[in-house]
Amino acid sequence: MKKLNVLLIAVVSILTATVTVSFNIDESMAKTVVDDQNNVIEIPDKYFTNMPSPELIENQTVLCRKMQYYFAHPAETITDPVVLNEVGTDTINKALDNAFNGKEGQRKHAELLENFKSQYLNPGDRALRLMAGGLDTGKVALEGSKFVGILDPSDITVYNATGKKNVTEAIKYSMNEWSKTPYFNFRLVDDPKEARVIVGELNPGETAEEHIQGNFKLVSSYYNIEIQGKIGLSPNITNLNWDDTDLLHTVMHEMGHAVGRPDLYG
Ligand SMILES: [Zn+2]
Repeated sequence: MKKLNVLLIAVVSILTATVTVSFNIDESMAKTVVDDQNNVIEIPDKYFTNMPSPELIENQTVLCRKMQYYFAHPAETITDPVVLNEVGTDTINKALDNAFNGKEGQRKHAELLENFKSQYLNPGDRALRLMAGGLDTGKVALEGSKFVGILDPSDITVYNATGKKNVTEAIKYSMNEWSKTPYFNFRLVDDPKEARVIVGELNPGETAEEHIQGNFKLVSSYYNIEIQGKIGLSPNITNLNWDDTDLLHTVMHEMGHAVGRPDLYG
């Protein structure tokens, strides 16, 4: 029995050592990017598993060039099949008419053209957008959500900023429940810097959702991929027993928002 214990400790030490080393490597290799909220953030290199191929960038470069030609000639009949497919009608003018349904004034028409044009200025950006910012999203598309995907849904790190044990228990239960759905796995962490979901109390003046004593706020996204979010719990519920319906239901509900689930009404 004693021998077995020693062996187990040895194995655990090796595992710990490996984890520490790989974590240091990750920290030192991160991309500094400007997120959708215009904040400068760092995303570890290991998450960029989905970068656009040179072929995709080349395709987008050709598409942008062709689009700019037709923007400069909006009444000209489009013959290029790639552009036809992109625009959906055979002239840019018709596409603009369709886009605003003829209800808006001429000024809006010009604005729409500028907006349309601006979407075809940067082929690299277009390619990145098509590839979810180059990020590992587990190929999980979130529908009806504010964001189109979530960073590495197989390992969503959660930090309990309330420091309360009952809240930790409610989080654990909720993580377990949400992990039963395909794609999502959660892990509690001790360091808020490692956390992609932070659970804290609502700040004074912050309001909870209707009928639910908490809220979820997106902190950071990149190319519409959720990087980090914050769950705020009403101070009324954070001292309840972990399995009190008010606390548990709220944590489960907000955790659902953290993985892109919209509210369902009716
Ligand atoms: Zn809700």
